[in-house]
Amino acid sequence: MKIKLAERYKNVIALLNDANPTAETELQYRNPYELLVAVILSAQCTDKRINAITPQLFHRFPSAEDLAKASEEEILTYIKSVSYPNAKARNLSRMAQRLVEVYHSQVPSDTLELQTLAGVGRKTANVIASVIFKQAKMPVDTHVHRVSGRIGLTKDAKNVRQTEEQLMKNLKGYNIALLHHQLILHGRYICKARKPLCAECTLKTWCSYYEMTIKNDKKAL
Ligand code: SF4
Repeated sequence: MKIKLAERYKNVIALLNDANPTAETELQYRNPYELLVAVILSAQCTDKRINAITPQLFHRFPSAEDLAKASEEEILTYIKSVSYPNAKARNLSRMAQRLVEVYHSQVPSDTLELQTLAGVGRKTANVIASVIFKQAKMPVDTHVHRVSGRIGLTKDAKNVRQTEEQLMKNLKGYNIALLHHQLILHGRYICKARKPLCAECTLKTWCSYYEMTIKNDKKAL
């Protein structure tokens, strides 16, 4: 049966809403500054690891001003256990300095302005715009990219930018921020990179990867 794209979107989103109506970031933060720091740190690292180190980091540097005054060496002592600690310490230092000097310590809402901060790429800027400023943005990480492709929400997307464009084109009228978190959590716990847990997945009726797997299994019989 050929499923129409709009129908796939509608049903997948309804099922994700049933399964996880309040999905949100697993990063712990209390204000825009803390989320910005946590998201920069979370690149290529687990949220669990970031949540383990940020309480001490934010205790020592409770504001952008405090972080801007610190040396990279001191920042490094708090983030040693995350991936790419040296580069991240440098980025945090530079980000905080610019945040203080140019933005008076206020995290900007504009995604292009956000991307002028060290360590902030398109995905991180979209996370801040979506989570803090409630803008309709779809930050695409490895989970969103993989899960969207497998389900068939995107087609032949070669990179995260193409995934973002295809998703945004089809998400008018939907809660994009909520779907972003739902797709991440689905990718983290069910539709895992190496071995998706299709048997226990509620989306399988609408998933093109699952449909292909069944077809291939039947052919092999
Ligand atoms: S059915 Fe399998 S491939 Fe499809 S979304 Fe679920 S876990 Fe992922």
